[in-house]
Amino acid sequence: MSTVYRAMFEIMSVDKFSLEKVLSVHRWSDNLFSFTMTRPAHFKFTAGQFARIGLKVADDLVVRAYSVVSSPYDETLEFFSIVVPDGAFTSQLQHLKVGDELYLEKVPYGFLTLARYQAPAPKDLWLLATGTGLAPFISMLQDFETWQKYQNIHLIYSVRTAAELAYVDRITEIVELFAEGHEGFKFVPIITRDPQAELHDRLPVLIENGQLEKTVGLDFDPASTHIMLCGNPQMVEDTRDALKARGLTMNRRGEGNIAVENYW
Ligand SMILES: Cc1cc2nc3c(=O)[nH]c(=O)nc-3n(C[C@H](O)[C@H](O)[C@H](O)COP(=O)(O)OP(=O)(O)OC[C@H]3O[C@@H](n4cnc5c(N)ncnc54)[C@H](O)[C@@H]3O)c2cc1C
Repeated sequence: MSTVYRAMFEIMSVDKFSLEKVLSVHRWSDNLFSFTMTRPAHFKFTAGQFARIGLKVADDLVVRAYSVVSSPYDETLEFFSIVVPDGAFTSQLQHLKVGDELYLEKVPYGFLTLARYQAPAPKDLWLLATGTGLAPFISMLQDFETWQKYQNIHLIYSVRTAAELAYVDRITEIVELFAEGHEGFKFVPIITRDPQAELHDRLPVLIENGQLEKTVGLDFDPASTHIMLCGNPQMVEDTRDALKARGLTMNRRGEGNIAVENYW
């Protein structure tokens, strides 16, 4: 790209973004961290949607999708990030400090939202995440509407090692704050590289052998289940197939049980 053309492209493209300030950084492990940043008044989103965040690497603006962790009612924006050592974005983002600036695209994106479900009627909500795929579900759980809509809510969170189990205390706090009088919440961690963990098989296996339903004490019912999968594309594909084999259908044009979001 010529220098002039590149400068024009940058101005056009930067115009789609606002510049926001990093307010906090929390490191969970070597390869996982969360951060918060200022939220501009124009940035409205629904729980489950993602933002596009940019940072300057040399002279280029590198942009990646990030599910919003915080609730639509929070004054700041929170995100939960992997570190990919040779990743163009996260190899830089991992050095983030309070006071740094990040680009935030002005509009949110995505359809992994509870509003997409028209049928079946809401009763049982299953939220299945691998790794940072937890992010949109933390946002949904911080929305009172989620707790009002669903009789049973199951948050299933699969990680490789116990050190990668981020947000566990936060989940307890959220339940205390949002779920008063709600009897149907279950949090089920899965640690795939720890044979001593209560659940350590991959999600599709736990669905095929019935262990996941046994653990929460409720079966998948095509007439009452909304189920969302988020994170690793291989997990999403294999889990989706295991659920289809149990009679659940993909949610299309509002109807059906399964909604998915792939992170790469
Ligand atoms: C809709 C959407 C929402 C997303 N939300 C998040 C989020 O909330 N948090 C987040 O960390 N990432 C999220 N991602 C992924 C994110 O956009 C980037 O891929 C990630 O930040 C890595 O960027 P990178 O340039 O360093 O590496 P990339 O070049 O983008 O990716 C390199 C490789 O790293 C691996 N990888 C990428 N993302 C992840 C991940 N999240 N966990 C494990 N391995 C990964 C894959 O093998 C991928 O091929 C989301 C992606 C999409 C499409």
